[in-house]
Amino acid sequence: MTDNANVLDAVVVGAGWAGLGVSYSLARQGLRHAVLERGRIGETWRTQRWDSFRMNTPNVQTVMPGDCYDGSDPFGALTRNQFVALLEDFARRNELPVEPDTVVTELAGGHENGGYRLITSRGTLLARNVVIASGNLNCPVRPVWAAALPPGLRQIDASDYRSAADLPAGAVLVVGSGQSGPRSRKNWRKQAEQSSLPPAGSGGSRGTTEVATSCSGSSKADFSTCVETRSFDLRGAFHLVVCLG
Ligand SMILES: Cc1cc2nc3c(=O)[nH]c(=O)nc-3n(C[C@H](O)[C@H](O)[C@H](O)COP(=O)(O)OP(=O)(O)OC[C@H]3O[C@@H](n4cnc5c(N)ncnc54)[C@H](O)[C@@H]3O)c2cc1C
Repeated sequence: MTDNANVLDAVVVGAGWAGLGVSYSLARQGLRHAVLERGRIGETWRTQRWDSFRMNTPNVQTVMPGDCYDGSDPFGALTRNQFVALLEDFARRNELPVEPDTVVTELAGGHENGGYRLITSRGTLLARNVVIASGNLNCPVRPVWAAALPPGLRQIDASDYRSAADLPAGAVLVVGSGQSGPRSRKNWRKQAEQSSLPPAGSGGSRGTTEVATSCSGSSKADFSTCVETRSFDLRGAFHLVVCLG
């Protein structure tokens, strides 16, 4: 029989800004809880954003519960590191019970006290409530046709992309015109100019091909099914960067 004292009121999975915000509310209610994080606070922002990343949310909106923006640049945008620092500061100031390096691997309901059992990389926990705040954009999704592209064509997910310096010389095709695609493209363009490569769009094996295209999940290995249709010669020295959710 499990002692009730060992059952937490709640467990929050994930210490991104959703998980920390929930933890703040739970703490204000005086509820016993833990925030389990597989890495460090803001792990997604530390490991899945490119080096020159800046938030698309203005500073005035990039605030945590209970806080308000009082800086001098309300419409500026935080860098990746500044945003991580903001999350860390919020957790520290509010003494949130974050347990880093704790991966939740299993969650089961029907526990004898009416709660949940969580299996983690550091043991088992029991809780009456579980809040899943593990993020919804952490797993790259490649269109099925990506598997059929020529093996010599290097493919990188936006979450693994850090900077243009990591890409081999050659043209680059950006697939995806959401948040990541156009901003990575801007980044390449800037770096290409800085490193005296031929200007974007000039073609050739050394140029950065400045293309962002929205593709549907077609099973075909060509790009004719793209929403924004263009043709690409994939026999050339292209490096394909897949920038989809
Ligand atoms: C390229 C890109 C740019 C974006 N830019 C912005 C922006 O500028 N402004 C904006 O508002 N939104 C932006 N978003 C959306 C952004 O992802 C969400 O706003 C925000 O990260 C969601 O916060 P979250 O706390 O739900 O998830 P996350 O920040 O992803 O946090 C989830 C946490 O859960 C942890 N976790 C996952 N699985 C487990 C597990 N099994 N056990 C323990 N821990 C686990 C992760 O390590 C992570 O720390 C962007 C998204 C992408 C992909």
